[in-house]
Amino acid sequence: MNPFTYTRAGDAQQAINAFQGSPGPFYVAGATDVMQLLREDVYSPGTLVDISSLPYTQVEVGPRGARIGALARLADVADDDAVLRYYPLLARVLRETASTQIRNVATMGGNLLQRTRCLYFRDAHTACNKRRPGSGCAAMRGANRINAILGTSEQCIAAYPGDMAVALVVLDAHIQLEGPDGPRSVPVAELHRVPADDPAHDTTLRPGEIITRIDLPASRFAESCAFVKARDRMTFEWALASAAVGLEMDGGTVRVARVAAGGVGTVPWPLPRVEHALIGKALSAERAAKAAALSVEGARSAGDNGFKLKLLPRVVEQAILAAGGQA
Ligand code: SF4
Repeated sequence: MNPFTYTRAGDAQQAINAFQGSPGPFYVAGATDVMQLLREDVYSPGTLVDISSLPYTQVEVGPRGARIGALARLADVADDDAVLRYYPLLARVLRETASTQIRNVATMGGNLLQRTRCLYFRDAHTACNKRRPGSGCAAMRGANRINAILGTSEQCIAAYPGDMAVALVVLDAHIQLEGPDGPRSVPVAELHRVPADDPAHDTTLRPGEIITRIDLPASRFAESCAFVKARDRMTFEWALASAAVGLEMDGGTVRVARVAAGGVGTVPWPLPRVEHALIGKALSAERAAKAAALSVEGARSAGDNGFKLKLLPRVVEQAILAAGGQA
């Protein structure tokens, strides 16, 4: 691990000032992912700006919406009675995320910003355009079983690894930000960037911005939602493919459908074609399978990860049927 300077901020403005005045600055709170990256020399920040004391830990949840502080711990949100009642999809996803020990430490904002699990990104001795722009991509012809099949580019095929962002896309969540240019709000669906020709930048955050809160609109899918996650082992593991589904049903007919996939895209991957194939239709096993088949439109395998082309439609189909009470 390379040496760095450590600064603890007492409020958002102090944090932003410290960030702007530092060489190679980096915000840190729960530090569950950052510590690994520091130890492996993937990150070499000049300064770590600790924001864990900032007052962004509220969990305010009701039928008309939720305001969840970016520094709330995953476990606190997953176990909150109102989250379980009004946003069971979020509670379910959080319980499938990380180990109990990590959930007790990791923050909501940090979870959204976790970096890819691509083997070569986390090995500082290999070529990786995301870690060292212009160095190449060892995953293209290497071990790419966990990498993405959607949203990839010639520069990078790294999968976005998180579960929670997939559910937040379905729930139409927004993040609130504070930064050098003042506050702003961004839909979670627009937070992450596909790599295109600039894989080094994972998000649309501007330099110095801090996520302060995650806002959810009024609860919609509490009665009909599901999260299905395929992974290598039942104890904690990142998704090989996952699907979050929220439905509004009118009898047996789908009135509203929101569907997104994880573990397969370079960003949390919305599936509007799948949604359109469900809306206005009677939900059945056949309809779910036909809609789910559209989830891999435009997908591209890099070799080892070709199995995801078959896995993803199965996972999406299961999630649709589970959300509709037909699993
Ligand atoms: Fe790096 Fe992306 Fe290639 Fe992985 S897929 S080695 S993160 S450039």
